[in-house]
Parts: sequence; structure tokens; C-alpha cells
Amino acid sequence: MLSTMMDFPLTIQHIFRHGRRVHGDSEIVTWTGGEPRRASFTEVADRAERLAAALKRLGVGPGDRVGTLQWNNQEHFEAYLAVPGMGAVVHTLNLRLFPDQLAYVVNHGEDKVVIVDDSLIPVLARVRDRLKTVKRIVVVGTGEASALGEDVLRYDELIGAEAPGFAWPDLDERSAAAMCYTTGTTGDPKGVVYSHRSIFLHTFGVGQGPAIPLTERDRILAIVPMFHALSWGLPYLGWSCGADFVMPGPFLQAEPLARMIASERVTYVSAVPTILNDLLRYAEGHETDLSSLRIVMGGGAAVPRALIERFHEKTGLWIVQGWGMTETSPVAALAWPPRGIRDGEQPEWCAKTGRVFAGVEMRIVDDGGDELPWDGKAVGEIEVRGPWVTGSYYRNPAPERFHDGWLRTGDVGSVDPRGYIQITDRAKDVIKSGGEWISSVEVENHLMGHPDVVEAAVIGVPDPTWDERPLACLVLKEGSERNAEALRGFLCDKVAGWWLPERWAFISEIPRTSVGKFDKKVLRARHANGELEVVELEGSSRTA
Ligand code: ADP
Repeated sequence: MLSTMMDFPLTIQHIFRHGRRVHGDSEIVTWTGGEPRRASFTEVADRAERLAAALKRLGVGPGDRVGTLQWNNQEHFEAYLAVPGMGAVVHTLNLRLFPDQLAYVVNHGEDKVVIVDDSLIPVLARVRDRLKTVKRIVVVGTGEASALGEDVLRYDELIGAEAPGFAWPDLDERSAAAMCYTTGTTGDPKGVVYSHRSIFLHTFGVGQGPAIPLTERDRILAIVPMFHALSWGLPYLGWSCGADFVMPGPFLQAEPLARMIASERVTYVSAVPTILNDLLRYAEGHETDLSSLRIVMGGGAAVPRALIERFHEKTGLWIVQGWGMTETSPVAALAWPPRGIRDGEQPEWCAKTGRVFAGVEMRIVDDGGDELPWDGKAVGEIEVRGPWVTGSYYRNPAPERFHDGWLRTGDVGSVDPRGYIQITDRAKDVIKSGGEWISSVEVENHLMGHPDVVEAAVIGVPDPTWDERPLACLVLKEGSERNAEALRGFLCDKVAGWWLPERWAFISEIPRTSVGKFDKKVLRARHANGELEVVELEGSSRTA
């Protein structure tokens, strides 16, 4: 028996119409370094409509890819609305990729048009000759563009020539709406293609109370790049609930971010822990008003407990940790503490990786693929499935990443009976010493609780006796003593004796990936090339 319900397609067009109609006076503020630019949702929607008309005139049709090489700004937002709405696919390009990778993803995605911010022209110009499918380039802004050739188009002129009132086509909810490539830490980047339906359901899923409950009273500081897993879904979420946006453009350093929060009265921030740490360290050293903040979310990498506690001391807020990946649209779990916890237990819950919420199914499996219990102890690989989890990669089936209809996340951890995940490592970062796992995440977490430590990354390095042992790479506060023995002593009562690193390296900064996470691959390569100065302490603690 069929239902009597309408077969209403779940598309971005609905989200677009709703935000425009119901929240027309909400605003998108773009930071410029000078006076911020402000546009209401009504204005942004009108411009998106003109952009769709202009792209159609340029020959963009259903399913064609439109690349965006842009910072977080109003025009990028317009592309998020216009391109999927007209039935094409918005392909967000990571502006920090190496030229080879950038050329690879544009060619692999077969982008027909690329929209580029004028400040990023040099990035595109470096690969322009290698782009096989790009027919037109549209430049946002008035900056010098001759490096891209004679026939570039200017965004404002292009959309200014169009009349309002684009006739949005009927769309199949399963058709592609957006695509994003993983950063490709191993091998070429892999394309994840989101559908209208997956984005629609993710938007409604992450808006739930146990996830990211935003309303039109919120003002979002969109720090997570729009090229990183659709800015963690915030553009569509905020647009659908009418929250205002503050778009930082290229101004991603702690000082301007702190200014945006204070002057724009931002209520919601989400970012990778390295950025939250920079922001907090700035706020600890400068007069800064963070009092408007209501929710701070950290994710993309483990959020150290010490950061959570210091942030609370400074602002009275607990950072809520989230977990997900490009392949999961990306939000899959959020660590709001459960009901009934006692005073003082808050940090322990916030330091968990996340609690799975409705819309995502999760399990952990052992090396043989058998399911492990949710007892908070058994450790295995996390697998997920659901309507906003990818079931393959674009033109790359990668069967090794899937298991009986589940996505293998490559993350290793445990799950407790209430669905809280604790990730101990990424499979590729795991340290195996004498056949047993050492959690680099846990050792890092403790080290980052030491008052002299600014940042810590622990990697596995070859060892003649134990195959692999941990090497702790540390950035210390200026003027602190480089005393590996004392730092090991600090860890002594916090982790098992055989987890204690005997190798230590003091470095000026930890390399970061294109989305701001610690880049352990680069650290491992530096170590292998003998570029790290390693202090080795007496006596292997493996037997301790
Ligand atoms: P990249 O592979 O470039 O880091 P993604 O953003 O897709 O790109 O990364 C997803 C991965 O980030 C996850 O598989 C996981 O390893 C890591 N991650 C995300 N959130 C957390 C978290 N809260 N704690 C630990 N790791 C996390």
C-alpha cells in the first residue's frame, strides 16, 4: 500500500525558497579588511537567480560542473545556491592544494566553468594551461586578471546583465548537487558527490537538538572553508533557519577572527582545533570580547581536553566536539554531554569524539570485519552508513573503502553503550609497538595539557626492537626549557609505561594540512629524511 503523502522532491531549491521567503532580512556579512560588505538573504537570493541565468547563458546545463576557487564570501554563497538550484553541480576547489592536485581535481571533475576570487588568480593561473575541460573563467572582483588570458568574465558584470526571475527547473532529488574531493593524504584525491536529497537530509539532520541547534537568533562565523566538506554543512543549515553569516574571506588569523566575533556579535563558531587554539591563545593575551558566543564546535581532528578546559575558563563555554568526514557530508556525531551528569563531569564528555545522532548508523568492527560491542572498551574500525554517507567515489569505486554496504572510515576507536565514540587514531596514524596499539591522540591530549606545550603531535617511527615507537614532536611556549625528561615525567601517571615516548623533537611549528589539521604524514617524512633533531632518552620504556 502506498501512502497518501506528496512525492515532494528533497532539493536545495526548497531550502533556497524557504530562506528567501521566510528569512529575507537575515544577512550575509563579508569581511574585507575595511568596511564589511552586507547583503540580505533577499539580495543574495536575487543575485543567485541572476547567476543561474548567466551560467545557463554560458552553456552550463544539467549535471555540468562549476568549480569554485573562492574564500568564504557572499559570492561563494551565491554559487552554493545558484549552481545546484539550476541542476548543475557546484565543485568546491581547495585553494591550498598543490598545483598538480588542483589540476587533477578540475580535470577529473571535468569542470566546465570556474568561478575564482581575484585574490586567487595566481593560484588558478599556475594550472590554467593544464585544465582540459574549462571553457570559461568568471572572476569575482576587479583585480588584474590577464594571467588567466584575454577572455575572462567579470562576475558582477555577468550577473548584472541578467533580469531577475530565473525559471528553476524541476529536479530529481537523487541528482548530483555538489562535489568535493578528499585531500588525498594517500594517492590522488577522491571525489565525493552529494545529491540534493543527501544535502537536504543532512541539513535537517544536523539541525536537530542533539546536533547543531541553530535559529534565526544566531550569527554564524563561517570559519570552516566552503571547500572543506561544504563548510561542514553550515551554509544550507544557516540559510534554512535564517541565521546570519559572517564570512571571513581570507582573514583567518586569530586577531581578525576575534574582532569579527566582538563587533558582529557572533553566537556560533565551528573550526578545527588548531584554529580554536590560536583564537584562545590570542584571547588569553589580548583584551577580547567573546561574550556573544553561545555554541562553539570543534572537529575535524581530536579536540584536546586541555583546550576544552582553557576555553571554558576564558569564556564559560564548553567546546562541543564533532566528528565526521567529507564522505559523511560531513557531520556524523556531536559530543553534547548526556542528561544526568554530575558537576565536574562536563570536560570528560566534551572530550569524547561525538555521539552518533539520528540519520547516521554506526558500528565498530575488528580486523576480521566482525562487529564489536558498544562497551566503551572494544577498539576497532568505525564503519557508518546512512542517507548522507557516500556509497562510492566519483569514477573510482575504491572497494577497499566499503564493507557490506558500510563506509570504512579509517578511524579506529571504541563506542560506549550510549553511542559516544572515542577515536584513538586514524588507521594510517596508528602506532603499533611490539604488536600493540598506542593511541597517539591520547598521548597528544595529555601533552597539550602541559603548561609549556603549545602543540603536540605524536607519530610512529621505526624501532629495531619494537617495530615502531612513538616520537613526540612538540612546539613549546617561548622561553620554555626543552626538557624531554621532565615532559616524560609529566606523562608518567597519565598513560601506560610502555606508551611513554623515549624520542622527542622540539620544533618551531607543526606542519598543517590544507584544511588546518596537523600533518603527520609530513612529520613522518621529515623524520625519515633525518630532518628532525631527535632527543633520545635513556632506556626504552617499552618494558616499564
Ligand atoms: P582530511 O582527510 O583531509 O582530514 P576530512 O575532513 O574528510 O579530510 O577528514 C575526516 C577525518 O578527520 C576523519 O576520518 C577523522 O580521522 C578526522 N576527524 C574528524 N573529526 C574528528 C574528531 N572529532 N576527532 C578525531 N578525529 C576527527
